[in-house]
Amino acid sequence: MPRYQYTNEYYDNGKAELTCGLCSNTGLRYHFKLRNVDAQFDLWVGSECILKFAPKDYGNAEAHRKQMLKDDEEASVFQVFSTLHRLTGLDFWPSYARYGYLTPKQMLVLCRVFRDAEEDMPTPPKVCLRKQMHQAHYRSFTDTEKGLVFPHLSATQKARWMFGA
Ligand SMILES: [Zn+2]
Repeated sequence: MPRYQYTNEYYDNGKAELTCGLCSNTGLRYHFKLRNVDAQFDLWVGSECILKFAPKDYGNAEAHRKQMLKDDEEASVFQVFSTLHRLTGLDFWPSYARYGYLTPKQMLVLCRVFRDAEEDMPTPPKVCLRKQMHQAHYRSFTDTEKGLVFPHLSATQKARWMFGA
């Protein structure tokens, strides 16, 4: 069996339309470059073939896949803030980039703007509901306001706040 090695080169195609260079599996979004050590050539493959042909490198490929997912999510969230900025001049991105979440009040502003502009929010920013102050703000929302914010909470937050905890 030929020896393969992961080159630590990877690629996010954005759309799931790539083909694995080894097993011809289709519909891949991420590619990883695998080197045939004996014959000295490279192939772009899917992560399953990394697992199959270079199992000791699979951990690296997984880490790279997670990084690509994270980068993609950040880009989508950034898109939400760009839209907000275009529509209102408000810029929540610097504080979001710093803290990693919006306060419930910021999220409410964002949701109102998107509702009024009939814009989609495919990747909503994260909202903080851990701090008591933020929980109190969320509780103080009217039912309509909660109804705007709630659909964009995380699954864990939804489970906890479903009945207005
Ligand atoms: Zn494959």
